Amino acid sequence: MTTLQDTEFSRQFSAKLAGRRFPFSGQWELTCRCNLRCVMCYTDCFNTPDMIRQELSLAEIIRIMDEIQEEGCLELCLTGGEPLARRDFLDVYTYAKEKGFLVTVFTNGTLITEAIANHWFRCPPSMIEISFHGLTRESFERITQGPGSYERCLEGIRLIRERNLPLTLKTTGMTVNRDEVLKIKNFVEYLGTAGGKKVHYKFGAEIRSRLDGSENVYQHQLSAEEIDKIERADEDFWVERRRQDRLSAQRQLRGEGLCGGGHNKFHIDAYGQLQLCSGNRRQSYDLRHGSFQEGFYRFLPRFPCPYRQPLAQQELLSIETRRHPGTAKEGA
Ligand code: SF4
Ligand code: SF4
Repeated sequence: MTTLQDTEFSRQFSAKLAGRRFPFSGQWELTCRCNLRCVMCYTDCFNTPDMIRQELSLAEIIRIMDEIQEEGCLELCLTGGEPLARRDFLDVYTYAKEKGFLVTVFTNGTLITEAIANHWFRCPPSMIEISFHGLTRESFERITQGPGSYERCLEGIRLIRERNLPLTLKTTGMTVNRDEVLKIKNFVEYLGTAGGKKVHYKFGAEIRSRLDGSENVYQHQLSAEEIDKIERADEDFWVERRRQDRLSAQRQLRGEGLCGGGHNKFHIDAYGQLQLCSGNRRQSYDLRHGSFQEGFYRFLPRFPCPYRQPLAQQELLSIETRRHPGTAKEGA
């Protein structure tokens, strides 16, 4: 999901915690605003003036961030919607850096300006992850529904690479781009050989219900067989698939479910609701009216997740298990 979670450091840190609950890593959906309207987007339905008015203010974000830091959190992923669509994004970002968090930014790349890239150069994030779902203008904008977004995204990528900032491009595989995924990966590899820092690449295929509950996004979803075919066609994808499966199996065997949601990870939505993860918003704790400490330690452990059944009740490593809705957000 974010930069630290799969590292040796993360594994050793988790071992030292010896199962103790600790808010190691958080994902924060700063806004549902976005300048694009991607066909599979689950936050777009709340990209309305009325919902935007209800989002956390900068003062509220700062107060909550202070509390998160006091509890020892190391890593924050700032996402959206499009986080750069918040006019105060750089204030939020800079404050997070000043508090000492390792900050990852998920963005669609189209709002990255010289000023933002220069700011990141002076005060760099741990990782910038840009959604890149199509290799040509036509396929890219068929997904984003934003005329000009292809060029703007490429310009954002150029600004980041020019400054040698850490960059990951990522693609959500869908019916509309299934034949392009491997070509996009080749393009990213080419970027890595064209000078400058290596550009990382992530492939996912997760589609989620929209936040208002509507499910018309699933028309774009690949079947399990189609995902399997893409992953088997590329050695890196297949190695990563098997690695993820092994990690899931180990977590299951340790009785930890599929993730650390509520145990050492958490999610906060644009309205200050603390949740287990971005894919499970069945229950929330309102950080506007309570403290992060109380929410994380007293409430999250009680929140339900249907994907946390005992091992025997799940088809361990089955495709359905792998495609549960709580993994990384693939869009910005
Ligand atoms: S997927 Fe990301 S870039 Fe696309 S509309 Fe949603 S928030 Fe914006
Ligand atoms: S949906 Fe998945 S990631 Fe989210 S809390 Fe449940 S098991 Fe964890």
